[in-house]
Order: sequence, then C-alpha cells, then structure tokens
Amino acid sequence: MALVVQKYGGSSVGTIERIKHVATRVAKSRAGGDQVVVVVSAMQGETDRLIKLARQVADRPDTRETDMLVSTGERVTIALLAMALQEVGCPARSLTGRQVGIVTDSVHTKAKIEKVGGDRLRETLAEGMVPVVAGYQGINEKSDVTTLGRGGSDLTAVAIAAALEADRCEIYTDVDGVYTADPNIVPNARRLDRVSYEEMLELASLGAKVLQTRSVECAMTYRVPVVVKSTFVDGPGTWVAEENAEMEKVTVSGVTCDRNQAKLTVIGVPDKPGVAATIFGAVADAEIVIDMIIQNVSQENTTDISFTVPRDESKNALEIVRRVAKEIGAKDVQLTEGIAKISVVGVGMRTHSGVASQMFKALARERINIMMISTSEIKVSCVIEDKYAELAVRTLHDTFGLGTVTRA
Ligand code: ADP
Ligand code: ASP
Ligand code: MG
Repeated sequence: MALVVQKYGGSSVGTIERIKHVATRVAKSRAGGDQVVVVVSAMQGETDRLIKLARQVADRPDTRETDMLVSTGERVTIALLAMALQEVGCPARSLTGRQVGIVTDSVHTKAKIEKVGGDRLRETLAEGMVPVVAGYQGINEKSDVTTLGRGGSDLTAVAIAAALEADRCEIYTDVDGVYTADPNIVPNARRLDRVSYEEMLELASLGAKVLQTRSVECAMTYRVPVVVKSTFVDGPGTWVAEENAEMEKVTVSGVTCDRNQAKLTVIGVPDKPGVAATIFGAVADAEIVIDMIIQNVSQENTTDISFTVPRDESKNALEIVRRVAKEIGAKDVQLTEGIAKISVVGVGMRTHSGVASQMFKALARERINIMMISTSEIKVSCVIEDKYAELAVRTLHDTFGLGTVTRA
C-alpha cells in the first residue's frame, strides 16, 4: 500500500462538476489500495477575485488582512470536496492549514514553512478517512493565518509528502505534464517524460508556473518524487526526479517566459564602495526578491545600476529605492514595467557550449533587442520588451529543435 499526496489545482476544482470529478478520481485511487492525502487550491480565479476586492478597499492592502481574506478560497474547496467524497462513499475530512499544523514565518503573502505537523494527518488516515487539506495556507507563531505565495498549494502538497515520507506527490493540473515550453504559447511543445529537480527548479523560477518554484526546492531538498499529471486525461505525466546520464545528452530541455517582472534603473550612482550594498540592503529589508542585476561601466565616477523585481512589488521597490537614491546622491530612479524574461534551460549546458550565442543570434534575426542578460550553469536568460515575449519563446523553441526532443 503506497502513501500518496494528490494536489488538485484551481482549474481542477473550478466548478462543482469538476469537484465531483476529482472526488471520483480520489475514491478510485483509494479503492486501488493507496492511502491518499488530498491538497486543493481555491476554485480557478477565486484568489484573483479576492485580491481585486482588497484593492477596491485599499491601494496597498495590509498583508496580514490579505492573508485572512485569500485563505478563504481554499476553505471553500476543501469542504466541497470532502462532501463530494462522502457522497461517493469515501469517508473524508477537510482540514485547514492550522488544523494540519503548517507553521510558517510571519512574512505575510509569501511565508516560508517552518514545520509541518503530521500527527493530525496520520490520525485521520488511521481512522480510514481521506484528509482534504487547504493548500497555500499556514499559521505563524501567533496563530495568524499566512499564505505561501501564489501557486503555493504545490508547496503545501510537497511539504506534506516530505513530512509524511509519502511514496510520491502527484500534482494534478490542466496540462498532462511539464512541456518544453508553455503548451498554451507553443503549440508544438512536447511533454517531457522526466525532468531533473535542478532543471525543474530553473524552469519554475523562470516562469513555467506548472509547479511553484518553492515546491520544487522543497522536493529537491527532501528528495520527494513528484509527478505532474492531468486531472482530465489519463497518461504517464512528467516525473521530476534525480538527474540521470540520459538527461545530459539534451542541451536545452525547455524555454520559459516570465512576464511578472519589472526593471528599476538607478541613474547616476556615485561609483564608490558600499552603494550597491545600501541599495540592495534596503530592498532586501522589505523582503523584495531581486533577480537580475546589471551595473554599467563607470563614467566620470558615476554609474547606472539596473535590476529586476517582481512586478506586483515594483511600486513598493520604487519608493524604497527613490529614498535610498537621495541618501547616496544618485540622480534619478526609473521604473520600466513592460518587460519579459525569456530563458533557455538544460542540464546538458554544463557539457555543451554555444547555447548563449545561438540564443542571441536567434533573437537578433527577429530584431528583438536584449536589455539584460544573465546566465548560470544550466540556463541563459534575456530581458526583452514584453510585446515580443511569445515570438521569442516560439523562435527559441524552434532554434533548439525542442519540438522533436524525446527523453528516455
Ligand atoms: P493549477 O491551477 O493546476 O496549479 P497552473 O495554472 O498553476 O495550474 O499551472 C498550469 C499551467 O502552467 C498550464 O496551463 C500552462 O499554461 C502553464 N505552463 C507554463 N509553462 C509550462 C510548461 N513548461 N509545461 C507545462 N505547463 C506550463
Ligand atoms: N489559490 C492560490 C493561488 O491562486 C494557491 C494555488 O492555487 O496554488 O495562487
Ligand atoms: Mg499552480
């Protein structure tokens, strides 16, 4: 008998019909002999709807209250799914993040999990019931509700699988696996049979939202085998697991696009020790994650520094950086919102060269200007104008012949 954590995303529980469909799937797995813990997201669009409501009340809604509000989305789906399971003869019990014992830090709207108490889940399983857990939420040490960042139900599922030492974590969504590019942008994208934790981490952090980045980090740390499958069609899905020799034969395994970033440029920064530390220290103190950083060559003892931040935090970052710019004597700060980060990813890049130049040439052929570049051992990323994002993804997918990649 295997212990399996199954996570169903927003589109999988987006209507009552779909919730009933999920109930039959879960009941079938259980009837097949597996012990199942279910994690669910809010109904599709619900978290966005709640965030919009908050913005109608306040320009920058308080983050503690935001968590209190958005965590209700998952409360609805756990109760409905538990009822639907009971209707098909499968004993089930809904549980909130608090009831499961998901304890986080206090960084509201993007809290980090510190502990997952497995006792309540084990008790519920021992009683012969399917625990139906609210994804995306936890509580801090004061018992205030926190949330784990957008897409955070994936993290709830993987963290529970790690805590219970489950045999696997199954992520059910509206696509039947991880593809060489977003199949909604690139029609001839191909499903990968296997992808390494490291590659998946890059793909996710660079925009492939099929898995939340932190859920992949958690799976990699605790070596949780994860499989991404479709809720609606049966199939093998994509395994996210250890790297193997076969994987390195493929230089580029995926192309991603992240349209949720914005660029800040600090102009006329005095070129002396400590200024970068002051700027980035202030942004880090506000818990804003910085991605790419570029510093221009210094001219007349001043320089320009550009960096990217998540788009929904760009106004906040702008305010902070404007204040710091005054302190350090920089001339101006500019915010550019219409950007996209396009990346190519593959563990094979460790042993194959020339990927970056091929990427730059392909973008140049389409007359797409590159604003920023960054590389790591297994990825190359370029920031470009947002209006070229889809064209760039399709061009790079073709350039690296991904429509024909197959993996053992
Ligand atoms: P859920 O609500 O189930 O969590 P998400 O919308 O968060 O689903 O993630 C699934 C979506 O991820 C797909 O519909 C697809 O558009 C998108 N996606 C982006 N990149 C990829 C990729 N490389 N492979 C598969 N899906 C991808
Ligand atoms: N409902 C949350 C969101 O929309 C969490 C999730 O779906 O994973 O981000
Ligand atoms: Mg998701």
